[in-house]
Amino acid sequence: MNKVQQLYEGKAKKVFSTEDPNLCIVSYKDDATAFNGQKKGTILGKGAINNRLTNYFMQLLESKGIPTHFVEEINDTDAVVKKVEIVPLEVIIRNISAGSFAARYGVEEGIVFDQPTIEFSYKCDELNDPLLNTYHALALKLATPEEIATIEKMAFGVNDVLKEFWASVGVTLVDFKLEFGRLPDGTIILADEISPDTARLWDSKTGEKLDKDRFRRDLGGVEDAYQEVLRRVLGK
Ligand code: ADP
Ligand code: UDP
Repeated sequence: MNKVQQLYEGKAKKVFSTEDPNLCIVSYKDDATAFNGQKKGTILGKGAINNRLTNYFMQLLESKGIPTHFVEEINDTDAVVKKVEIVPLEVIIRNISAGSFAARYGVEEGIVFDQPTIEFSYKCDELNDPLLNTYHALALKLATPEEIATIEKMAFGVNDVLKEFWASVGVTLVDFKLEFGRLPDGTIILADEISPDTARLWDSKTGEKLDKDRFRRDLGGVEDAYQEVLRRVLGK
């Protein structure tokens, strides 16, 4: 499988077309951004780590019956995926209060919820990914009611699988963002990435942050945290 043409360059990945119109190649970068691109930097080795981790989790989720875009890892930073039309919703699941949830509702971080929450943001950089509810998503025709029901069910399913996995390697899954896409026949599958860029991961014993918050909040040890996450997963 070869890269034919660059279709898109995002903040963390590039997307290329291939000889097969149904497949693309995603290439993970070391670039890091936060606060909708206002803060920029590099996390050395991140591209390769996020490629590895995402591919690992996509395969784990497939094995648990959740359909994903993953096809094949082709090198350190690149993977072949099924090309989808991305549903322009960022789907966020939370098990514990943190980040924008804690700020928005004026609560401390670390409150363990009795049950996970789900929220949607409109995936639109120019508007700063505004929060919206399902009625807004329907009004804007971002997805159909059936698609939203499928996405919700799959997102909670992903949470069940990932929460259990992370717990088994001594990591608490606090929250994460997912993206879903449509195949040409309309089937909804899980797309994009699952990595410390898109999830909050806290060491279960010490509470140490092992994710992009180290970069966002200038906590130092960013590269070490990403390496540690990879070690835990590969050690499994
Ligand atoms: P951003 O667009 O937020 O800067 P990235 O740098 O991660 O994000 O860019 C990757 C882009 O590829 C995102 O817009 C994402 O929605 C899109 N994408 C992810 N998986 C697929 C896929 N299977 N098919 C097509 N596009 C995808
Ligand atoms: N997230 C993401 N991309 C975004 C916004 C959020 O991957 O554009 C992830 C983020 O890493 C965290 C979760 O979604 O794991 C919840 O993020 P939150 O809403 O708390 O926002 P943030 O603190 O990142 O502004």
